[in-house]
Amino acid sequence: MHSCQYITTTTVLLSHCLAVANMPVQLELGQTFPTILSARDTINRSVIDNGESYKIHTSNARVHIVQCRDKHNSGCNFYIRASLSNKTGIVSIVTLRSYHSCSPQVHYKFREASRVWYLAPHHRAAVLHNRSITTKQIVANERERYGNLISYSAAYRVRASLREEFDGKEDDDFRRMPGLYQRIFEADQQASQSLHYEDEDEDGNCTGRFVRWFIAPSATKKAWDHLRPFIAVDACHCSSRYRQTIMVAAGIDANNQVYFIYSICFIIY
Ligand SMILES: [Zn+2]
Repeated sequence: MHSCQYITTTTVLLSHCLAVANMPVQLELGQTFPTILSARDTINRSVIDNGESYKIHTSNARVHIVQCRDKHNSGCNFYIRASLSNKTGIVSIVTLRSYHSCSPQVHYKFREASRVWYLAPHHRAAVLHNRSITTKQIVANERERYGNLISYSAAYRVRASLREEFDGKEDDDFRRMPGLYQRIFEADQQASQSLHYEDEDEDGNCTGRFVRWFIAPSATKKAWDHLRPFIAVDACHCSSRYRQTIMVAAGIDANNQVYFIYSICFIIY
């Protein structure tokens, strides 16, 4: 029990030192912000960057106040207040007591330090560069660069949120398919297309789920008559929550070049 307590406190202090080494932005009395929302983000982020924690006292459209989570037990004086001035219309920090006198253990495993709003800016560039970055890598980056120990599930959530920010919701793409089908039809009326949705599942319930979409543009259909008598079909699986497969058929033209003929996308439930 005793050694466990020691390790916990050491971990807290270590993460605190690492966070300080990362040089977080220091708040200043009178510091101004364009909006109360940006004041809230900057204040909360700055406290967590310092390896510390806070409790929201009040947060609304005019004022944002944070205090110590352990105020009642330790009498810690930590208190930051930013408010919108009625006279000037400017949001600024009007009270700043940014030093905690409570035990460092109060800040251990502070939940806001694992939230998407806090983690997303740290990992936006990494996920943008590599959508398949592992949660293990995100956990390691957060620990090394920000001294913040997060769980794999927190890393998973931030990755999912950033992927959605960059690529949109995959579900929405299925809803866009009929519109794209119509656009292709209008642009190329000789094309062969077949977009199929499931009417009902095995229990007779109407689902309207996407099943498959076959596309053969008119140009490639006409080219087929002039290709060598050879056809190759290849398929790839998409790494997503939907088990989609895209199959492409290709031939070889008179110049021995690969020539796309048609594609079909389908999904396995
Ligand atoms: Zn405190």
